[in-house]
Amino acid sequence: MLFTRRKFISLTSNGIVLPLMGPIHPFTSSESHGEIALTEEAIRLHREALVLDGHNDMPGNILDKGLNSIPGFSLNKAQPQLQTDIPRLRKGGVDAQVWVAYVAPEHMRTGGGMQAAIEQIELIHQLVNTHSDQLELATTSQAITDIARRSKIAALIGVEGGHAIENSLKNLEQYFDLGTRYMTLTHNESTDWADSSTDSPRHGGLSRFGEKVIRSMNEMGMLVDLSHSSDDTVRDAIRVSKAPVIASHSSVKAICPSKRNLSDELIKGIAGTGGMVMVNFFPLFLHPDGAGLNQAYIDQTRELSSKNLSPEQFRAEMDNWQKQLPPMPQCYVGHLVDHIDHMIKLVGADHVGLGSDYDGITYGPVQMPDVSGFPYVTQDLMNRGYSTGDIKKILGKSFLRVLSEAEA
Ligand SMILES: [Zn+2]
Repeated sequence: MLFTRRKFISLTSNGIVLPLMGPIHPFTSSESHGEIALTEEAIRLHREALVLDGHNDMPGNILDKGLNSIPGFSLNKAQPQLQTDIPRLRKGGVDAQVWVAYVAPEHMRTGGGMQAAIEQIELIHQLVNTHSDQLELATTSQAITDIARRSKIAALIGVEGGHAIENSLKNLEQYFDLGTRYMTLTHNESTDWADSSTDSPRHGGLSRFGEKVIRSMNEMGMLVDLSHSSDDTVRDAIRVSKAPVIASHSSVKAICPSKRNLSDELIKGIAGTGGMVMVNFFPLFLHPDGAGLNQAYIDQTRELSSKNLSPEQFRAEMDNWQKQLPPMPQCYVGHLVDHIDHMIKLVGADHVGLGSDYDGITYGPVQMPDVSGFPYVTQDLMNRGYSTGDIKKILGKSFLRVLSEAEA
């Protein structure tokens, strides 16, 4: 999940409203990238591989839009209000999907964070039960493989925003018992025990309690997810964690200098734990011109949040503001695969995967507007000459390895 969910009105924890970033690049089309053609060969390899996506925000989106209370709601039908449904997951060749329970940072002030997370986790369980011919819950790496072999889609659960535990290790345990297998330490705001990449530091990384959270997650076999964490939090987590750590939806800072992306040093650090980075598909995290625009969004959200507007006013002001923006950068599959390529060269395919962030992003790369687009990644990797073995690692095998190591 990218920005503050709109139904919440928030004030940043530090109360600071940052000024908008300097000049934003106008529309840029890339000379080196464009649309690509899918070949039979790539489709065959993609079908043969186990394809796992590490981050999808559909549960919160369903609840926000009230879709589950519409009579006859089914993921077996096309859901144009979402970027995800079963027909498109099938078209995208997705064998395993991590769905997240996203907890807005506002809950640190208003309370109800745990309730919001549990509501989404229950929705995931409910969706798995009502689509049991298509979906099955997976809580182990072995289960993912077994479910995929039965031609069903394995559903995994992640929690986004460490404030979801409301500063209690007992609550953390409850999430594990409900099937959660990773948790991001923060979202866009620093928590009582971990600093966020898009907020002012409160602890210089992890607090002592934050270190305890990491150790508890290690003991349970819940993956520590460092997407959204500040650089110091990432360093602290790498130092403290005895199990591999992941970034479930983060891209490369050396290509797109967004605060949300990871530096080469941190990518190497994460790989050094045996963990992995799963690339985010959001064009503002991928295209070199996206970082300034993304920062402007975060700043604008914060500024409006400080104004005490109603949700309707908030949305109207946000829509108005967006009209003055230059067009979003045109981002192609090649821009996305540039990030994968960079990371493979840096740390090897064992430490790289996919974490699309669909249903948490406002748009995706050209040809990849939703979960049906995953085969294009396979195609571009093939076009660049990557081996079948490396492509299969990126598509899912690396995550299976990391999860099984965390289980051990
Ligand atoms: Zn996120």
